[in-house]
Amino acid sequence: MNVVFKYSFVAEVEKYSYLIMHPKEFKDLRSVVWDPFYILVSSLSKRSRLSWAEDIWRPIEPEVARAFKVLKLELPKEEVVCYIYSTGCEGWYTPSKSCIYARITKCKSRGEFALTIIHELAHLATYKIGQSHMEGENTVDECMARFPLSDIVTRLESLSHI
Ligand SMILES: [Zn+2]
Repeated sequence: MNVVFKYSFVAEVEKYSYLIMHPKEFKDLRSVVWDPFYILVSSLSKRSRLSWAEDIWRPIEPEVARAFKVLKLELPKEEVVCYIYSTGCEGWYTPSKSCIYARITKCKSRGEFALTIIHELAHLATYKIGQSHMEGENTVDECMARFPLSDIVTRLESLSHI
């Protein structure tokens, strides 16, 4: 497992256009950022945001990789690109490109950001063609509840104040 963080203005704008074209898909989600102003903020501070993401993720990556191995969660590729972005839901994944997206704005904590990455990685590892959105979410929830991933999740949730 090697998560490579990237920032793409194009991906950012694509994400935002999807959001405003399909508002209904987002109305029941627990956290959605609608304000495009955050795109400007992120594009101006992408360097510091990328290093913030890196600082959070790098220390826990080996442990998450081990947990994925124990649970036989296999990623399509060893290297996964994670685009950080600013609007819409907390995370997203594109199985065909083996990449994930993690929202960096309005994260309540470092732990929450790390959990988003693990959640999206679990989607990539368990994705089946033709699955419904709900099936995908249920499968990921089950993975996150299994040891040893469950231990990592509990610890990251306790970081919610940082
Ligand atoms: Zn999900």
